[in-house]
Amino acid sequence: MNIDKLLRTNIRELQPYSCARDEFKGEASVYLDANENPYNAPFNRYPDPLQWEVKDLITKVKNVPAENIFLGNGSDEPIDLLYRAFCEPRIDNVVAIEPTYGMYKVCASINDVEYRKVLLDENFQFTADSLLAATNLYTKLIWLCSPNNPTGNSLDRKEIVKLLTSFEGIVVLDEAYIDFASEGSFSGFLSQYPNLVILQTFSKAWGSAAIRLGMAFASTEIIGILNKIKYPYNVNILTQKQAVASLKNADQTKAWVKTLLAERTVLVQELEKLPLVQHIYPTDANFVLVKVPDANAVYHHLVDKSIIVRNRNTVSLCMGCVRITVGTPEENKTLLEELKKF
Ligand code: PMP
Repeated sequence: MNIDKLLRTNIRELQPYSCARDEFKGEASVYLDANENPYNAPFNRYPDPLQWEVKDLITKVKNVPAENIFLGNGSDEPIDLLYRAFCEPRIDNVVAIEPTYGMYKVCASINDVEYRKVLLDENFQFTADSLLAATNLYTKLIWLCSPNNPTGNSLDRKEIVKLLTSFEGIVVLDEAYIDFASEGSFSGFLSQYPNLVILQTFSKAWGSAAIRLGMAFASTEIIGILNKIKYPYNVNILTQKQAVASLKNADQTKAWVKTLLAERTVLVQELEKLPLVQHIYPTDANFVLVKVPDANAVYHHLVDKSIIVRNRNTVSLCMGCVRITVGTPEENKTLLEELKKF
């Protein structure tokens, strides 16, 4: 695969901004190179633009080499950067499964790139062939999300592999919810498929949505491109320090996942008992998609009780559905009690 050929011409030729700290690597006793204020340590200094301490810890936890990792301001940053790197506005297009996470489409609109949707089947699955049929010579990216939001299921691994082997552009596989899934990440396939980009996040299993830290795993070539076009100091020092602390305490994340999976089972069992509930879709994530007779009414009934779920009534294939995140046992109990009163 020729990544250079896929790139937008202006990005291929771009001379990136060079940070003061790019010139000098290592430790010095006096820093007068970046027009910082010498007072108010440690907040006075620009953070490491390539976040090596965080990446080295991610390598230990996830077994992905640091040079294959890009870090951004949430996963939303690499989603946007992939458009900016590869998609010529008004010329190129992308293909995505439908329904899925909304930001792929929003970023396509922002970047003036055609967004082509391929509806999932009744089991919320796709075939590589149906996505390939929607592509043309100008298709640069295909968006997959597994486990998928808002459906909750994991996508068929055989079809993902088939797509990786037959599509000439980049396949982005968003694994935001992978820590809750029964099958593992595709990160072990990175060296096999140079067109694979995996997205993960600190916002879900890691309990750190507030710090805004997203990860992209890909070939060193693709990571180099994302680093070339990102804002120089895109991950601030507070986020980097908090991520280091979380990664050093990865057992806590594992324990949360275990608890949430057990709670998910209880929540599904209890929801099944409610006459209101028509169907609960199988889930591999920390949420469940639930079909009810009137999703709008259920949503507003819960809002009135100060309980917020996600109304997916207008989303393709999700008519009549609400998406419910697994909370603490107390939160889930409160939800169930209010649903019983509906
Ligand atoms: N991908 C998916 C599938 C998501 O559901 C979300 C958040 N809801 C994100 C990415 C965004 O993650 P982040 O907070 O890292 O921007």
